[in-house]
Amino acid sequence: MFLSNRDIVDLIDFRQELHRHPEVSGQEEHTAKRVVEALRPLAPSRIITGLGGHGVAAVFEGAAPGPTLLFRAELDALPIEEKSTSAYRSTVPGKGHLCGHDGHSTILTALALGLSRQPPKRGRVVLLFQPAEEDGSGAAAVLDDPRFAEIKPDFAFSLHNLPGMPLGHVALKSGPVNCASRGMKIGLSGKTAHASQPETGLSPMAAIASLMPSLTALSAGAPPDENFTLATVTHAWLGEQAFGIAPGDGEVWVTLRTLVDDRMAELCARAEALAADAASRHGLTIAISYHDIFLHCDNAPEAVLHLARALDDESIPHDEGDLPMRGSEDFGRLRAVAPSAMFFLGSGEKHPALHNPDYDFPDALIAIGARAFMRVIRNLLG
Ligand SMILES: [Zn+2]
Ligand SMILES: [Zn+2]
Repeated sequence: MFLSNRDIVDLIDFRQELHRHPEVSGQEEHTAKRVVEALRPLAPSRIITGLGGHGVAAVFEGAAPGPTLLFRAELDALPIEEKSTSAYRSTVPGKGHLCGHDGHSTILTALALGLSRQPPKRGRVVLLFQPAEEDGSGAAAVLDDPRFAEIKPDFAFSLHNLPGMPLGHVALKSGPVNCASRGMKIGLSGKTAHASQPETGLSPMAAIASLMPSLTALSAGAPPDENFTLATVTHAWLGEQAFGIAPGDGEVWVTLRTLVDDRMAELCARAEALAADAASRHGLTIAISYHDIFLHCDNAPEAVLHLARALDDESIPHDEGDLPMRGSEDFGRLRAVAPSAMFFLGSGEKHPALHNPDYDFPDALIAIGARAFMRVIRNLLG
């Protein structure tokens, strides 16, 4: 084990400090600063800041040439009020580290500590602290940043903690592990009227009321079925909050999910057809837009082999678990640049679920995640 008990105490302090100061997607300015402060004394060969927004990358060069291994964690928290009595609970009203990204960032900081004492013999290690994972924009922004060329990896790895699985057990497999998803906004417009004379206007009420169940009915099957589709109505509004106005506008928000990217276009087309039909039946104009676009995560077999070997070497139990999971993860973008794979690290069978208000990253996972990744580094780079 490359971390001492003292290291682990310090790392837990660091994790809990990040936890106290959550920042949401795209606003991770102080979190990024705090990460850089922790990295600087560990003297990486280079620290790149402002990557794709508030992203940070620390590069540890080996003495001899060799492959580049990238490890990714996330910086962002969620716009959810934390419900906790812990001493290190969120100090920011309405925001909380309720997905464990504070823990994932701490695991990469533990790697930096290990690499500062024993750099890789060859190649290089890139520790990427990525912004804006939760809204699906961060990985794409990092890849689009011209400075990403300086850290382009030969392999990319990541992990996510996962409640519902025994603490410290790993789920890992090749192929799709996270679904593709995107948010669809359907705007419907008619004409407002006085509430006493609704017949002089055109309300989208009936169209919206019919669309919500018809969109939901696009759902079918479950992973690992390749034809799995899920349409979840997440939000809707109609008119103004006023008793004197018959509504003239409204919106339905629906999140569309498929196991693989290839099936998403067809699901979008079916949802758009339902929306167009509802609009035309009621004489409304329609505006459709897409948001929070996640590609599916596809674990490359050669990257999975490296992870599986490291887990075996560290005696960390692993199997395929319940993969693929329905959730989405913007790490899926990394497969465009390198063979990539992520594993899921159990947070405990009875642990509150991700994004629950009482969720908290289990500190016991810091050492386990760090050991697994460090073993990948030593196996491949020495
Ligand atoms: Zn999350
Ligand atoms: Zn997450």
